[in-house]
Amino acid sequence: MAPEHRDRAISAGRRILARVRPWWAMFRRRSEVAERPLTKWEYGIVTALVGVGGPGSQVVRESVPYLVWTGGCGCGCPSFKVRDRRFPQQPHVLERFSTGRTPDGSVGLDFYLGPDGRPLCVDVETDGKGLRPAPDTLIVARV
Ligand SMILES: [Zn+2]
Repeated sequence: MAPEHRDRAISAGRRILARVRPWWAMFRRRSEVAERPLTKWEYGIVTALVGVGGPGSQVVRESVPYLVWTGGCGCGCPSFKVRDRRFPQQPHVLERFSTGRTPDGSVGLDFYLGPDGRPLCVDVETDGKGLRPAPDTLIVARV
């Protein structure tokens, strides 16, 4: 390739990158902050995981109707973050509230609260298979 052709190709590449970069940054920002209502499956999972008593459980259960989805996990598993929409976003400081598992043990779940004692995050461990366990089959225990 002649040097002037190469220079032209490089500057064309730079122009395309300059055009795409702000759009990509905006897309990433949006996908990080976009909140939505829980899906039926997410709502079922949270409802199952709060179905245990003990200290703080009243507050946790009271939040469930107000939860919104605030983010997923980049790895493709069905883990998700939530927030009680009546209150500001809590820092990602987690306290485990309960655990769940399928009867055959193929899927394990951990349910975490934020510093305000309200739901913040559901971790679904599926050995990379991305399985979504049926909420009504979960065996749930208080931590
Ligand atoms: Zn994941």
